Amino acid sequence: MSASNHAAAFALPATDADGRKNLVGLSRDELEAEMLSIGLEKFRARQLWHWIYHRGATDFTVMTTLAKPVREKLAETYAVARPTVVRDLKSVDGTRKWLLRMPDGQEVESVHIPEEDRGTLCVSSQVGCTLTCRFCHTGTQRLVRNLDASEIVAQVMLARDALGEWPAPPDGRMISNIVMMGMGEPLFNYENVAKALKIVMDGDGVSISKRRITLSTSGVVPAMKRCGEELNVNLAVSLHAVTDELRDIIMPINRKYPLKELMDACRNYPGLNNARRITFEYVMLKGINDSPADARALVKLLDGIPSKINLIPFNPWPGAPYERSTDKAIQVFGDIVNNAGYASPVRTTRGEDIMAACGQLKSASVRLSAADRAAIEKVLAEKDAALVG
Ligand code: SF4
Repeated sequence: MSASNHAAAFALPATDADGRKNLVGLSRDELEAEMLSIGLEKFRARQLWHWIYHRGATDFTVMTTLAKPVREKLAETYAVARPTVVRDLKSVDGTRKWLLRMPDGQEVESVHIPEEDRGTLCVSSQVGCTLTCRFCHTGTQRLVRNLDASEIVAQVMLARDALGEWPAPPDGRMISNIVMMGMGEPLFNYENVAKALKIVMDGDGVSISKRRITLSTSGVVPAMKRCGEELNVNLAVSLHAVTDELRDIIMPINRKYPLKELMDACRNYPGLNNARRITFEYVMLKGINDSPADARALVKLLDGIPSKINLIPFNPWPGAPYERSTDKAIQVFGDIVNNAGYASPVRTTRGEDIMAACGQLKSASVRLSAADRAAIEKVLAEKDAALVG
């Protein structure tokens, strides 16, 4: 393990543990209502918004466009808080992962992946997950709760603090893209995710365009249309199997929303065209879903849907039930899909040394005993029953 621990690398403000209300995550309307509630003018909300989301201020004393008595009044009632950083790991390849503790003690992960032409922040939407995708470590954890909008936005704010990106430049940003692809199923927490993304997209603030935001779903069919209409962000679908028989096993949500319904919802995703395609995520599992016949079936399944396919070599975690496909199998699979006219890049595995894949950090050093495995199987069975029942 060549990861280094940077837990004390940057100072963090106190959370709202002192009882003050956190302003991060409030909509513009809510912020205006707060101002009126303490006898301040409505326009103070606009000034605060700029300081909080454009300048990244966490202390009212630096908000110099506000008169001193106003700043003092704000500080009596409110905080601009961040979660606590429990771990801050940096991979040899530049990938950085934070384990964050929320005020109630629950922990979630965010990951920053720098690339040549962009920097992507992978954001979590839930503590644990409702679902049980068998290749995903988070799937073995119980759903504890949804994150609220403040906790989702805070992941972006904290990453910007850590990367020193306040205010963010118009070009060449370290956080240029956001993927809702961390812990949790974002469409099972739609209201909070939508509220948070609207804050992140606001032009006088964090200002990340909807074209640079991707929401990844396991296939929560009923919420997909609403997401496209209201947020109009890019959509990624975790597909991973081309038959209902296999997808029922590795992604049990398929028992509720089978492939035909999922593909119809993809075809009808608002704003879809050849310039704006759906990304299908396909994790390559050795001997499970990686044959040439699977590749041909995938091409058939996607017929008529403007798509690109991300092939993801499986990133194993302790106790994982699958192995990574061989390079040869991935190449043959990719060639078939590519020759059919679909872009099918193989996603380089990033941050392996810091267990950057979703949900892994919390149990990085755990060796599973038979009792642990039995406990995980029990969690999976209970969650599957609740989902389908
Ligand atoms: S892949 Fe996503 S939806 Fe599936 S179990 Fe993992 S976190 Fe949940």
